[in-house]
Amino acid sequence: MTSDAKLTPVSWNTHALLTRFALRSAEWDFLDIKCSVVPLQELLFAAGNALQKLVRRHAEMLAAKGCNAVPGMESLPDIVTPRGFLEALRLNPEFSIHYVRSLKLREVPADSPHDASRSGPPSPAYVPTPVGELISARRILSTFSDEPDWGIDQDLFLIPQYGYGPQPYGPPTGVSSQAPFHMAFFFEPRPLLWAMPSLRRNFMEERIRLFFALADLAFLRGIDYWGWRFTAWAMHYLQDLTQPYHARALPFSIFRLLKRLIRAGRLSGLAERHGNILRNRHMLFEAAVHWLLNDALKRGSHRKPVKALSHGNDWKAQDVNAVMKQSAKIVSRLAARVNAALETLMREPRLNDPSYSLDHDRSYRIDLTLPQAALDRPESFERFLSLVAVCLSEAGTVTRYAVRTGASSVVSDGA
Ligand SMILES: [Zn+2]
Repeated sequence: MTSDAKLTPVSWNTHALLTRFALRSAEWDFLDIKCSVVPLQELLFAAGNALQKLVRRHAEMLAAKGCNAVPGMESLPDIVTPRGFLEALRLNPEFSIHYVRSLKLREVPADSPHDASRSGPPSPAYVPTPVGELISARRILSTFSDEPDWGIDQDLFLIPQYGYGPQPYGPPTGVSSQAPFHMAFFFEPRPLLWAMPSLRRNFMEERIRLFFALADLAFLRGIDYWGWRFTAWAMHYLQDLTQPYHARALPFSIFRLLKRLIRAGRLSGLAERHGNILRNRHMLFEAAVHWLLNDALKRGSHRKPVKALSHGNDWKAQDVNAVMKQSAKIVSRLAARVNAALETLMREPRLNDPSYSLDHDRSYRIDLTLPQAALDRPESFERFLSLVAVCLSEAGTVTRYAVRTGASSVVSDGA
């Protein structure tokens, strides 16, 4: 390995690691069964009328939320092509389906920097997998639990035919435009929901139900590769909801919110006016967890969060909505404390600069700032790790729930 190669950012994305650790101690032999990589078109051809039915059910779910696509959207004649499939399900039609796998442990040098981007393949963090190659269910789940962050939910409110209506929050383009599909604010203070009713609107449950239904369809057609890949997609949204900044719009204490409100004079638009300030905290939290998990896998460090992920309190089968609310309740109640712990640990003055965007700052080095903060403030670091561990315990629980639910038609091990 040359020194240049060592500098190439190769690592694992956060969802891939959440899934990997969450399934580490799951004693399910089926996770190690290998299946062939199959192109999406093959499933679409094999699905027949069942796919049309599924698309119609999805349209009905969205219609119940007041989303009405242009008539005929759900019965496009080219639904058996990837683009037709994406359009019929009102996903980003420009999204590319890549056949890849995440890196194995031996393929990542311990000193390689992390690739903090979430744009997905092609990237040195992924290895192409040709059609027909064998890949384990475990690796499919891990690799593709990241996939919904690769652009499939971006820029959707700009497509009038899809009928999603006015965007409730987030910018119209780019990675944050996916927010109403990847965030859900079930437990905001009532005055905030009254002042900002759009915070009630999200499409997360519809996404989870859609991808579980597609997984079921694929397993029933015997195309396990896509059964696991769609299960991983549904899993992604459940994992997102265990991230405090995805489950809480304004993760501050009531006292702090009131102080800001008094200073600002009005509540309406508070989240928008604090755009970067909120987003910087969101990004810093994700960067910190990303680094902790990568470091845990490379060097076996930070046992607390990793243990929490693999040994959660798993529920018996429950409805998707009940599972979402249960984990969101725990995490959203913790959000203000997580945010305060992050601020105390990192002492990053730029967090409060509305003109600074951590998201766009490619020079920010979490691999330097977080270990230094841990050295300087070990008690704050321990406190932060403990709070992260509670969130990761929920992430582990929903990950295993997703596996049991997505594969329910093929797995009957009493799990
Ligand atoms: Zn996401």
